[in-house]
Amino acid sequence: MMTEVYKVINDKIDSNDMRNAVEAIRNGGLVAFPTETVYGLGGDATNPLASKKIYEAKGRPSDNPLIVHIAYFSQLEDIVSEVPEAARALADKFWPGPLTMILNKNDKIPYETTGGLDTVAIRMPNHPVALQFLQDSMCMIAAPSANTSGRPSPTTAAHVYDDLNGKIDVILDGGPVGIGIESTIIDLSEDIPTILRPGYITQEMLAEVIGPVRMDPGLTSENVNVRPKAPGMRYRHYAPQAELTIIEGDNEAVVAKINELTREASEAGQKVGIISTQENKESYVGGEVICIGSKDDEEEIARHLYKVLRDFDDSDVDVIYSEGFQSAGIGGAIMNRLIKAAGHRIIEV
Ligand code: AMP
Ligand code: MG
Repeated sequence: MMTEVYKVINDKIDSNDMRNAVEAIRNGGLVAFPTETVYGLGGDATNPLASKKIYEAKGRPSDNPLIVHIAYFSQLEDIVSEVPEAARALADKFWPGPLTMILNKNDKIPYETTGGLDTVAIRMPNHPVALQFLQDSMCMIAAPSANTSGRPSPTTAAHVYDDLNGKIDVILDGGPVGIGIESTIIDLSEDIPTILRPGYITQEMLAEVIGPVRMDPGLTSENVNVRPKAPGMRYRHYAPQAELTIIEGDNEAVVAKINELTREASEAGQKVGIISTQENKESYVGGEVICIGSKDDEEEIARHLYKVLRDFDDSDVDVIYSEGFQSAGIGGAIMNRLIKAAGHRIIEV
């Protein structure tokens, strides 16, 4: 299959390109598009064959459900069995935006889209290109991240192309995304609202609107029998080709430890990559240093995380050492992704 890449200038999709993209999605094809979190790989959420194609293109296990993207709140009402008050309140506050809600579904959404579950994940993205495409296609669009399963989520159209060229119909190239990590997922299908995946919208922000919100115990528990509720959080999401270790603690001690580890690894003949903050990047001796952003700007770090990990996959380093980041606010979401990528290898200094 030929994958067409359409450049979107100033967030306006050319009318011919839009016509082709709409035709593709309405005929059960696949269209990748930018959202404010990461690029999504879209198919018609009501078409079981389109959902199957999404799993195939990504190489994703078909029990891992897809998020349904919508442009209007009325579309949510159309596909769930009941709209809880909390869903209205959260939509009022955070939609369009990086928040996904899990609700009980009705028959309009096939099990192929929800990985066999009776609940459905729904989000209204805050990106002009995504919204324009949703509106013009008049589709609800099932869209997981537009990467090959097991690779970092794509934050540019080039990442999508690297993974999916030849496997999908269209890529709408709207430039680099703004947030860079996936949406917060909140489960409203049970008694206590529960965060199944941390993201830009934090537990505190949610609690301010709807009262007590808990974290899925499966995200934090040391007990391996307590599994995360979101199927996607159970998989080893992404493992860099090089072994990644996070070094946490007092800044000077972290830099000293990374320098020590780098020296040792180099002496053993290994090539070393270092994920550094702006403030520390001159302090490292040896190793290939990639700067991820300023300590004072967690949003910048989130935006660059997946690109840095992809860049190291493209270079031939054997080991990667990363500074740890604060775990308050969006830092919690950054550390959630980084710790998974490191397979929980963390050194405290
Ligand atoms: P992605 O689209 O790649 O960001 O992944 C979507 C995430 O949402 C995965 O971790 C899924 O397991 C999770 N998810 C989607 N639908 C549901 C659902 N109905 N219940 C629980 N988790 C879900
Ligand atoms: Mg994903």
